[in-house]
Amino acid sequence: MSDLSKLILDKIRDVPDYPQPGVLFKDITPLLADPGAFAAVIDELAGLHRVDKIVGIEARGFILAAPVACKAGVGFVPVRKKGKLPSETLEASYDLEYGSATIEVHRDAFLPGERVLIVDDVLATGGTACATVELVRRAGAEVVAVAVLMELAFLKGRERLDDVTLHSLVIV
Ligand code: AMP
Repeated sequence: MSDLSKLILDKIRDVPDYPQPGVLFKDITPLLADPGAFAAVIDELAGLHRVDKIVGIEARGFILAAPVACKAGVGFVPVRKKGKLPSETLEASYDLEYGSATIEVHRDAFLPGERVLIVDDVLATGGTACATVELVRRAGAEVVAVAVLMELAFLKGRERLDDVTLHSLVIV
């Protein structure tokens, strides 16, 4: 395991039974509060691929994707929960354990064929990342890769992203 992976593992806190019983929540706030660890993660993500835009998934994805975009010298695009973006949007829905969720991106967020890296904190079932890949493609851009700090392997999210490069800085 790389030094960076060890650092990330060390700085992500497990919170049992949040937000509901049976879920082991991966809390990234200790990592964000450590300037060296935060900067190392941003440097790593910014160096993965040469892209035109970095997409962040609401909400913790924003915290990572925005500094990655600044560091890489490219634009940041938010993918948000339905009803939060002010201009014309495209939307995609996906199933949750109970019910469903809808996310949106601005219809004009990308120039045709722009190369995009999608960033989030945790990959669990892969539903959120998969819907984001679909949205970015429908908006006319090319998804170069998805990058997350932590992949929860037992939930098999990777299998739903079989046509996309996936970078997980830590797999547990
Ligand atoms: P999923 O769509 O199941 O892959 O869930 C991924 C989204 O939910 C990401 O945006 C994560 O921030 C959040 N998430 C899911 N499971 C966890 C968890 N155990 N700890 C922290 N965040 C999680």
